[in-house]
Amino acid sequence: MKKNQAIPAEIINIVEIIEKAGFQAYLVGGCARDIFLGRTPKDWDITTNAKPDQIQALFPKTVYENIYGTVAVINEATEDNTLRNVEVTPYRLESDYSDRRHPDSVKFSDKLEDDLQRRDFTINAIALSLSNGAIKDTVDLFGGFADIKDKTIRTVGNPDARFTEDALRMMRAVRLAVELDFSIEQNTLASIKKHNKLLKDISLERIRDEFAKIIMSPQPKLGIEILNETGLLSHIVPELQASIGVGQNQAHAYDVWEHLLRSLQAAADKNWDLDIRLTALFHDISKPKTKGLSRETGIITFYGHEVIGSRETRKILTRMKFPVKTIEKVTKLIRWHMFFSDTEQITLSAVRRMIVNVGRENIWELMNIRICDRIGTGRPKEDPYRLRKYHAMIEEALRDPVSLSMLKIDGKRVMEVCNIPPSPKIGFILHALFNEVLDDPKLNTTEYLDKKAVELSRETETKLRELGEMGKEKKEEADTKLIEEIHKKHRVS
Ligand code: ATP
Ligand code: MG
Repeated sequence: MKKNQAIPAEIINIVEIIEKAGFQAYLVGGCARDIFLGRTPKDWDITTNAKPDQIQALFPKTVYENIYGTVAVINEATEDNTLRNVEVTPYRLESDYSDRRHPDSVKFSDKLEDDLQRRDFTINAIALSLSNGAIKDTVDLFGGFADIKDKTIRTVGNPDARFTEDALRMMRAVRLAVELDFSIEQNTLASIKKHNKLLKDISLERIRDEFAKIIMSPQPKLGIEILNETGLLSHIVPELQASIGVGQNQAHAYDVWEHLLRSLQAAADKNWDLDIRLTALFHDISKPKTKGLSRETGIITFYGHEVIGSRETRKILTRMKFPVKTIEKVTKLIRWHMFFSDTEQITLSAVRRMIVNVGRENIWELMNIRICDRIGTGRPKEDPYRLRKYHAMIEEALRDPVSLSMLKIDGKRVMEVCNIPPSPKIGFILHALFNEVLDDPKLNTTEYLDKKAVELSRETETKLRELGEMGKEKKEEADTKLIEEIHKKHRVS
């Protein structure tokens, strides 16, 4: 088993400071586990027999964080513990959880053993002591080491008791399984099935955080499947279960449930963000409600499922306490997710209208949703030419057209500096100026254009008209060239 994961100097330093003061200090929890897995720990937890005030006395800058006695040590150099989260927590005893959410009281202990015993899973209950920056002793009282080797999630002690104390541990088991690619040990799994109802007592915020971590793991499809098989899903998003077994027409290889999970997995495989993953998971959530059958064609229909689905998803994400920004983005993408599926209707002006609907900032994500949706359908890959064509169209619709507004002078200013009244002459002058600027963009300055406008205003009407026409032509040429460049870049006509 690998032990060569580098332990940051800052962590070694904190451990040494605590030990020099005569206390014990161990790396514990996720970081100890990740070291043996060769993974980079997300955060570093140190446990000690020192009490909160004793810990605080050892470091110049600390924050006493919560009722559990955790002290966050702030790095003096950066005055910041967000870069690397280091938390020092006194040994604690498992306490009673009469409400199944919060321990009734926090009891500190003098024994490391007590602290390891209160931890959720054996793989999270290993403690490491350090010497000269390397691991000295490994304290593994519950077989965590063997479980890491076997890739097994197993509770410390009796699973029924442990899940009854804190029901969130059931979701943590699923989350760790999909994050680490481990399996949940049989008795632990059976116990989750038995106790899934206890999740009702857990705060929505804690459930949301674990759910989001499952979605952000490399295997969200498997995660949702385990949530479903254990019965946990009915206490998190029962709406998803309505899609199980809901068949679709010939274009689809899978029922709605399988399609949603495959779309989600496709987003994870591309390493896309939470918003896209949630959109992929929920985009067809209202297909079960909208399913119909066309009398004439005998084809299954889901009319309006994107509109109803967008609303239903808003309800779900609001209930789950996701941030407003996430909810707005996801529901917007779901509302318009059908756009790219009707290939016949995709014209440049349709793309322009879509950009107004979904927002400039979301249009590329809408394309990404289409990619997930497509993969989730089990159909062969999108025709690459068509995909490039859509990309080119979006770029074309998004680009700023070549226009007079790019000039550092406008009609009003021309009238002012030339001291002339409104007339077609103003337009000729502007186009004549544009003609020059298109040839040499460096000339696009107020000083130059003011001066040049005055010169031009002294030309004859015929000469001005001629210059103006040249400018117009050049503008159109420049615009066409830009579009051609976009087409060339995407290799489409
Ligand atoms: P991550 O990689 O996400 O940080 P982690 O295992 O470190 O995973 P944390 O939430 O950071 O998870 O918790 C740190 C440690 O605290 C865990 O490894 C575990 O020992 C203990 N722990 C966390 N939550 C619970 C819980 N609900 N019940 C018992 N022990 C817990
Ligand atoms: Mg952690």
